[in-house]
Amino acid sequence: PTMAHSKALLVLENFIGGKFVPCSSYIDSYNPSTGDVYCRVPDSGKEEVEAAVKAAKDAFPIWSSKSPLERSQILNKLADLIEHDLEAFAQAESKDQGKTITFARTVDIPRAVHNFRFFASSILHHVTECTEMPAMGCVHYTSRAPVGVAGLISPWNLPLYLLTWKIAPAIACGNTVVAKPSEMTSVTAWMMCKLLEKAGVPPGVVNVVFGTGARAGEALVCHPDVPLISFTGSTQTAQRITERSAPHCKRLSLELGGKNPSIVFDDADLSQCIPTTVRSSFANQGEICLCTSRIFVQRGIYSEFLKRFVAEAKKWKTGNPSDPTMDVGALISKEHLEKVRTYVKKAQAEGARVLCGEGVDPLALPPGNQKGYFMLPTVIAEVKDESCCMQEEIFGPVTCVVAFDTEEEVIRRANSVKYGLAATVWSSNVGRVHRVAHRLQSGLVWTNCWLVRDLNLPFGGMKASGIGREGAKDSYEFFTEVKTITIKH
Ligand code: NAD
Repeated sequence: PTMAHSKALLVLENFIGGKFVPCSSYIDSYNPSTGDVYCRVPDSGKEEVEAAVKAAKDAFPIWSSKSPLERSQILNKLADLIEHDLEAFAQAESKDQGKTITFARTVDIPRAVHNFRFFASSILHHVTECTEMPAMGCVHYTSRAPVGVAGLISPWNLPLYLLTWKIAPAIACGNTVVAKPSEMTSVTAWMMCKLLEKAGVPPGVVNVVFGTGARAGEALVCHPDVPLISFTGSTQTAQRITERSAPHCKRLSLELGGKNPSIVFDDADLSQCIPTTVRSSFANQGEICLCTSRIFVQRGIYSEFLKRFVAEAKKWKTGNPSDPTMDVGALISKEHLEKVRTYVKKAQAEGARVLCGEGVDPLALPPGNQKGYFMLPTVIAEVKDESCCMQEEIFGPVTCVVAFDTEEEVIRRANSVKYGLAATVWSSNVGRVHRVAHRLQSGLVWTNCWLVRDLNLPFGGMKASGIGREGAKDSYEFFTEVKTITIKH
């Protein structure tokens, strides 16, 4: 699309039963790098959700009776079509979200394509269980069937990436879906809807209703004909979804926030650790649930680490996201930028040292980006463990660095937050990395690397970071209902 250069507002429509449908009211959507309204997103409510759920219910009998191979071929076709338009999708994602064009080109859209290919393939390889009881003359086996209409709710940080991570397994398993992307980042979902017919996705299999969480999201969560909700977003919203869905006993998958520690022992290879930890702290403006925000460095290397880490962080260039040489784009909204800045101010007020970034270094922006929501990568040292900066998810380009002495101590401190999503351990001692990995309260532990994912394996968090896991087997189990059948012969 040429909307990148168009002055007219882009107006999105809901996608229901294979058709684009206008809505009676709209929400403004901002370009975070300029601060301008550039798009209008349907402000859907009960009525639109009702229509979408009905379309999904109507499509279910035919879609669920297709063979996995037929569905797999359609998913692969959709992946090819998105890949064909990769550049247009990347431009749109960058403009809508504020992320750098480089990140959208290399991470968001390729991963969205991969999500469809991955589940197109994995759906062909599941086997069910069978046991025998010769003494009883019985054989038992399990069969799995799609559940029905799946409600999918996704956040703004990795819009198409996270939405397709839900749509792909849901429809591969034979469910039909009603998806609600974040009202702040709806454009790429709408672009994907334009490709569904060509890919061979029958009308009603994928419906997308745009709008806010309070209206469209809640209508979906409360709809009696939507037996499962897959949600990625904040812990606070998950609590609300859990409450609202409780009267219906819905099946929930909740992928939530994090306060992810990185533990750097004195035998770590700093030449790898430092650039990777800068990336794990600031990639996508720090707006990834897996981003590192607490770095524990063993005392003997603390000063050297800090010096080299700050020098590396300062190399990251912040500015116009459509410039491919930039490393950091704009934050999602004005309100979010203010919230992230408040954390830095609080840390300063508590006596912590801001070593680079916000309030310390000048931020030079091109004329067109003066009103954008930018913030430099910010490193804070000497923060107390009980400070809100070490306890709460900031979800911006801010990371805290503190010293520790012993393995026992750092495990206790790393675990002393309500979250438990992802942790990183840096050490060349193989015994230690296994030991520490086992004791960290975290759904994912990376050792001497970050964000290396095998989609086959479970993804998800412990404690306030979530309930349930996603991945080849886990998503298959979530999106299907299992039955145990016993036959006496
Ligand atoms: P959010 O919880 O505000 O919103 C997420 C989605 O839920 C949006 O589509 C929103 O419209 C919708 N929503 C809001 N209120 C709702 C309600 N009452 N009922 C139904 N839906 C509702 O989160 P966000 O600010 O968009 O995203 C950032 C959060 O997402 C961070 O906490 C981040 O850690 C988390 N996240 C987690 C993962 C993961 O895989 N664990 C991945 C990415 C982001």
